Amino acid sequence: MFEEILPGLYRIKVPLPGSPLKATNSYVIKGTERSLIIDTGWNREDCMAALVSGLNECGVDSKQADFFITHMHADHAGLVSTLAGEGARIYFGWADAEIIRSATPEHWEKQIDFARKCGFPGEELERAIGSHPGRRYSSSNSLNLCVSKDSDTISIGDYLFECVETPGHTAGHICLYERDKKIFICGDHILVDITPNITLSAEERNPLKEYLMSLDKVYDLDVELVLPGHRSIFRNQKERIQELKQHHQIRLKEVISILGKGKQNAFQIASQMTWDISYKSWDLFPPAQKWFAFGEALAHLKYLEEEGEVGWGMEKQRIMFFITQNKKETHK
Ligand SMILES: [Zn+2]
Repeated sequence: MFEEILPGLYRIKVPLPGSPLKATNSYVIKGTERSLIIDTGWNREDCMAALVSGLNECGVDSKQADFFITHMHADHAGLVSTLAGEGARIYFGWADAEIIRSATPEHWEKQIDFARKCGFPGEELERAIGSHPGRRYSSSNSLNLCVSKDSDTISIGDYLFECVETPGHTAGHICLYERDKKIFICGDHILVDITPNITLSAEERNPLKEYLMSLDKVYDLDVELVLPGHRSIFRNQKERIQELKQHHQIRLKEVISILGKGKQNAFQIASQMTWDISYKSWDLFPPAQKWFAFGEALAHLKYLEEEGEVGWGMEKQRIMFFITQNKKETHK
């Protein structure tokens, strides 16, 4: 199924069976010689069938197309290696490209070890990792990536896009801005019906801080139409940015109030946070959703730690978080 959003710019909804995201929005811009396909869906047959039939309907041959991938997650990058023809350019944010290039088979081992230290129970952890879409549906072949940075431009048909780096959802997340037409193609940086997952894994970043800075970075862009990676297309970018910033401030306060009960590990904290998901209790969350919630709790803990509000220490081989009295004066 495809729809023409603007002349020569189409959206194809690629279903994500079993995921609360429901579908990935793949955008296609038809050019005279080559076209541009933005994000693809998981590397599995039903996603492939949906995308290929949408491309056929809008008269685009994937072998004559270049690809722009907003970020490395499998629901965006999954099909690119199967679809891309020889010589296709695959634009990718530099930091995500770096992560893909340096990925080792030990990547998941490290994640598992870190999660265990943060209190994720062993059996559920195996199920969470086993069902993780990033592990099951990512690109099958190595990709020849065309690394993109801020202010790089991509000209296609009547459109001239500027790349805008927006680290947060992933370290190398990148958006496309069409200045004249006031269109912002934003991957998972700004979503309207759901909030983008901001997650920390076994690394030394502060993704929530990066994310909030990336929201500020795009706030002043003159945008009339936002084309996100999932769910509805929308117009009120500024209002949505304010809501997302407020959402994270509420979450930060919630984490502090949970920690007010005493020292806890990240899994315990995640289990008490408010999640906008249709399961009645934490125990009923599928392991994969617990994994995303847990990563999100960690991102908030990391932010609070760098602000001086939260500290941590090891106790019986577990990382335990607690409130400190050293809150930075600059933090509001
Ligand atoms: Zn996504």
